[in-house]
Amino acid sequence: MPIDATLPYDESNIFARILRGELPCKKVYEDDHALAFHDINPQAPQHILVIPKGAYVSWDDFSARAEDAEIAGFVRAVGHVAREAGLVTDGYRLLANIGRESGQEVPHLHVHIFAGRPLGPMLA
Ligand code: C5P
Repeated sequence: MPIDATLPYDESNIFARILRGELPCKKVYEDDHALAFHDINPQAPQHILVIPKGAYVSWDDFSARAEDAEIAGFVRAVGHVAREAGLVTDGYRLLANIGRESGQEVPHLHVHIFAGRPLGPMLA
């Protein structure tokens, strides 16, 4: 069920539980600002999620409230993960769903990294 991205942050969401170490993930990368892990239901040969360590519901919430250092750290982490995974040569897609009509399911900001095959038209 897509979430309402205007609601307050829910500390019990599944990515908050992964960040607290209460649930496992297949970790790809971690630093002070971000955690990256393989999506459990991959939609491409490479499908990695990158999440900020802070409590932000969506990109909207993050871009409005996060400190500049958190934003810079997160953006750099996304790029680092893609480079380290060797995705730059053939290319990749970043996607962040925000709220109901986007289909966002987990109410903690996550950027999807898709790669490993031609990804087709943007909204297919
Ligand atoms: O952008 P959206 O909220 O729809 O994406 C949520 C993503 O989180 C899905 O791709 C889903 O497979 C993934 N997921 C995950 N591990 C979980 C729960 C969801 O990788 N434990």
